[in-house]
Amino acid sequence: MPQECIFCKIATKEIPVTALYEDEHMIVFPDINPVTPVHVLVIPKKHIANLLELAPEDASLVGHIVFTISRLASQLGIAEDGFRLVVNTKDNGGQTVHHLHWHVLGGRFMTWPPG
Ligand code: 5GP
Repeated sequence: MPQECIFCKIATKEIPVTALYEDEHMIVFPDINPVTPVHVLVIPKKHIANLLELAPEDASLVGHIVFTISRLASQLGIAEDGFRLVVNTKDNGGQTVHHLHWHVLGGRFMTWPPG
């Protein structure tokens, strides 16, 4: 784990968060700077810098995470009206924290394309 990775510190509980869901592979917690009424982050506990750094053996982890998000949508109150799932990747994608994460954004209508 890179020493300064803030999401690794969240995964290891060095930095406490209110976990909305957690299992041995992943943790779900509110974004510190929400841009929508519902804005949660979903991270693997394993440090992976971004989508491009996934190894073949991570495929089941990604499947598990995305499947779990689909099941958590009701609990988050965003299943009925829908939501957006975003994985910012590297500079052009707007990634600022270099530990793979999914943004789950919901609670209001969103326009397309993104800015
Ligand atoms: P990115 O821009 O890399 O796609 O998204 C990083 C997200 O992490 C941002 O939405 C930012 O608000 C959130 N974030 C950064 N540091 C922390 C933190 O310490 N705690 C929480 N809960 N969210 C954070």
